[in-house]
Amino acid sequence: MIVTSWNQLHKDILNCTACPLHQGIRHKVAGQGDPNATVMIVGEGPGAQEDLKGIAFIGAAGELLTKMLTAIHIDRKDVYISNVIKCRPPNNRTPTMQECNQCLPFLRQQFALVRPQIMLLMGSTALKALLSPELTITKSRGKWVERKGIWMLPTYHPAALLRDPAKKIEAWHDMQLLESKLNELDSLI
Ligand code: SF4
Repeated sequence: MIVTSWNQLHKDILNCTACPLHQGIRHKVAGQGDPNATVMIVGEGPGAQEDLKGIAFIGAAGELLTKMLTAIHIDRKDVYISNVIKCRPPNNRTPTMQECNQCLPFLRQQFALVRPQIMLLMGSTALKALLSPELTITKSRGKWVERKGIWMLPTYHPAALLRDPAKKIEAWHDMQLLESKLNELDSLI
């Protein structure tokens, strides 16, 4: 894979028409945060608020993510936040695996530029797109997977926690695992 620059990558995302999802959106949502972050967070795709503003993880789910990070002493500006897909699917439907695969090269480019040590995979789409379509979030969450020296931790998407607050107990456990791993890696975050 040829690693491009941030400027080129953002232009490529902006101009992309590789799948039908670009039709009818207001903004592409590339991602944002510390370009040298130790932790990269990957969600599913833009929702209504994100599509409106062009920023990843805002609205209620984004606020919850900020609180979850704060609870383990991570400032949101110190992580890099992105999604598997960069265009909002109609009516917030789950993106198909074909759409995910079409968009994944952009996430791979982001990964190559940030070079994080840890990836937090939030929700089923991120888990299936980045680890295996065979996995389920309920069985995989809270279990570290190490790939080529990168530590990946699947957990629930904040939107799922808003729909089912009972899952917050497990999500809190996962955030504590993330904090422990950061301490273990002697991160400077
Ligand atoms: Fe391109 Fe990704 Fe948008 Fe599809 S979702 S049009 S691949 S940027």
